[in-house]
Amino acid sequence: MRVRFSAPDGAWRDWAPALRAALPEADLARDGDPAGFDAIIYAPGGDITDFTPYRRARIVQSLWAGVERIVGNPTLTQPLARMVDPGLAQGMAEYCTGWVMRAHLGMDAYAQDGVWRNGTVPPLAPERRVTILGMGALGRSVAAMLGAVGFDLCGISASGRAVSGLRVHPVGDLDRLLGQAGILVCLLPDTDATRGLLDARRLALMPRGAWLINPGRGTLIDDDALLEGLAQGRPGHAVLDVFHREPLAPDHPFWAHPAVTVTPHVAAETRPATAAPVVAENLRRAMDGRPILHLVDRARGY
Ligand code: NAP
Repeated sequence: MRVRFSAPDGAWRDWAPALRAALPEADLARDGDPAGFDAIIYAPGGDITDFTPYRRARIVQSLWAGVERIVGNPTLTQPLARMVDPGLAQGMAEYCTGWVMRAHLGMDAYAQDGVWRNGTVPPLAPERRVTILGMGALGRSVAAMLGAVGFDLCGISASGRAVSGLRVHPVGDLDRLLGQAGILVCLLPDTDATRGLLDARRLALMPRGAWLINPGRGTLIDDDALLEGLAQGRPGHAVLDVFHREPLAPDHPFWAHPAVTVTPHVAAETRPATAAPVVAENLRRAMDGRPILHLVDRARGY
């Protein structure tokens, strides 16, 4: 199997040892005659932008879970698989659980200012609703970790497809459910249907003081509407890992806003150690003519 690797400079050094170990039968290369490759391993920012000459390739395996930068490429006729990896899922669950706990425990109330603030008994996790918008591979992993803590979980997805042990609602119920979303975790892909979904009208439906945590994609939120919403306390705080433009401009108002926490797109990394076996399994499936895992639906965009 001849495999073409296309990712930003530096990625090869990180990925080559893990890929070679997971896929010893493959001839991995960073260049060569496009017509000679059976598979492509892809991350945005690499050198391949035109997939037309890769006539023999049976799979394009993305190293990223989000595929918005490749899914609309008109030269891409090969099957596209997105990244679903246990390390990514664990990392995202840890990130979201950490910020949910900050919101839940009201950690920000305890400034080190000599004031003894012991007047409020916070609710326990089962009394705290956490709403997860996006119940895919990552949303389910987040739900499993938050569920283990005991939170009252509510999931929302496009389809409302059931997830074991959890209420999942279709996105048509979003407006109604936002009214109960004291902590809202957003894990949606960037698609035509999700862009701008959290606009001024919907943000205004959130409870006063609610926390909005978005490690999905920045395009979900109308930034101006969010700034206006924060001024009204709906939401009361936003934890943002992803943005319309990355890196976030140094003079963007989010950086200095007291009710915004910015993290620089670090919620979950695809780690070669856990992801290389996933890549290997999918490439072998493609070579054997077996069904490819985690195929992207090109019409839906995820
Ligand atoms: P996934 O498995 O494809 O799941 C996507 C979920 O979103 C599904 O539950 C889907 O509903 C739902 N959805 C799609 N369109 C929707 C809409 N219009 N309204 C409501 N729900 C909708 O994706 P994933 O692996 O969980 O990853 C989610 C996103 O996280 C990625 O696309 C990526 O952008 C982002 N991400 C961020 C980082 C980071 O470090 N910040 C890292 C990795 C991934 P159905 O279940 O009905 O299909």
